[in-house]
Amino acid sequence: MTWKPVIGLEVHVRLKAQSKLFCACANDYGRPPNTAACPVCLGLPGALPTANAQAIALAVRAALALNADVQPTSRFARKNYFYPDLPKGYQITQYDQPLALGGWLDIPGAARRIPLTRLHIEEDAGKTAHAPARSVSLVDYNRCGAPLAEIVTEPELTSPAEAAAFLKALRRLLVWIDVTDGDMEEGALRCDVNVSLRDDAGRAGERVEIKNLNSFRFVEQSLEYEIARQQTILEHGGAIERETRHFDPLRRATLPMRGKEDSPDYRYFPEPDLPPLALPSALVAEQARLLPEFPDARAARLAQAHGLTAAQTAFLMSDRATADYFEAAVTHGAPPVLAANWLAGEAAAELNRRHATIVQLSVAPLSFAELLRLLNLGRITTPAAKALFAEMAATGKPPESLLAENPAYLRRDDAETLEKIIDDVIARHPALVEKYRSGKTAVLDALVGLAMKAAGGAADPKQLRDRLIAKLAGDS
Ligand SMILES: [Zn+2]
Repeated sequence: MTWKPVIGLEVHVRLKAQSKLFCACANDYGRPPNTAACPVCLGLPGALPTANAQAIALAVRAALALNADVQPTSRFARKNYFYPDLPKGYQITQYDQPLALGGWLDIPGAARRIPLTRLHIEEDAGKTAHAPARSVSLVDYNRCGAPLAEIVTEPELTSPAEAAAFLKALRRLLVWIDVTDGDMEEGALRCDVNVSLRDDAGRAGERVEIKNLNSFRFVEQSLEYEIARQQTILEHGGAIERETRHFDPLRRATLPMRGKEDSPDYRYFPEPDLPPLALPSALVAEQARLLPEFPDARAARLAQAHGLTAAQTAFLMSDRATADYFEAAVTHGAPPVLAANWLAGEAAAELNRRHATIVQLSVAPLSFAELLRLLNLGRITTPAAKALFAEMAATGKPPESLLAENPAYLRRDDAETLEKIIDDVIARHPALVEKYRSGKTAVLDALVGLAMKAAGGAADPKQLRDRLIAKLAGDS
């Protein structure tokens, strides 16, 4: 018997609205606990919710980007349950009439189209922190009422890796269209997964839900564990129980949360304090107008226009700001292939060192283009360009003014200069020269390095190497 996993996802995405879904409290989670919660957030008697138009517009934009059918009228519902982080005793969500139905998302590079079931709007709950040392649990209501879009896939994902790839593609798209910041560590994108195993005859087993995963890795690891667990049970003639589990990253295992019997009855009913959500067609048209060129289309266009490889476009499409930066630099005259390689190499490394994003890079696309043009013209060497780039990132100055301040960056490969440098290195390092001449040619790298250093990085390494070899051969 071979078992095939059947996987579906429910993804919760925090929308980038300025305020919460039903009140004017800030949708911002860096604040001290319980400083951004009002009577509406807390569900105090008499407090009435008002739907946030900006959050709804963002959810509509997400639905359009996912090719879903935006419904002219949808409806809010109450989902009733008790938990300390839900002071109202119910969550306002959408149930039988969601904002959008259907839709799909392609997984880039995998030729896989994953169909979607629905997209609806709902509010988030608060946050509970357990402090076992003090035998207390602490509740922060700041997150109560945060605007979420929930995106539900059909159970058509077939492996843990595919589920993670889908989630990555979804996150990239939603950040790309500017509806969420997608910060998974901050909980702006969280995921529940459903998984069952189907036998050779196509019979599907009971499905198990794993709750609240906040990283691609946890999605993959929890599914791997869960598939192996279910397979072992089925192979020993057991039956899978329908249940909800959670993932413990330290043990890399899923653990039971609740079974079928104690699954809560949410007693959904229409939210009496909010009218049905009738979307003005102008709002939907405006959101459609705001959709940018999508990553796949943009990758294809750039690849064709500039002869970029799939790996180069994949890097440029990792976020929209990187793609924008690349196009701006090319407009300013940067050689495209060189620019793509530099963005994935030197620029990415510099941003890593600074824990920054490309938007925060102090090198303007125009300066970046100038630097690459100088490199392409042979006026500076690659090592000098790298050093210049680091200085540009540190100072925000354009390359011309840094070259004016420090002409040593300009390429020095006139024969006289190189000759002098090489003679100097040979004279100062007789032991290395001796080793080289006795056959240990590997020390040549060290000699080239010393010569490069003496040239302040501003010479062509290949030329230095060739001249060194000739010199060492000639003088022996
Ligand atoms: Zn509030």
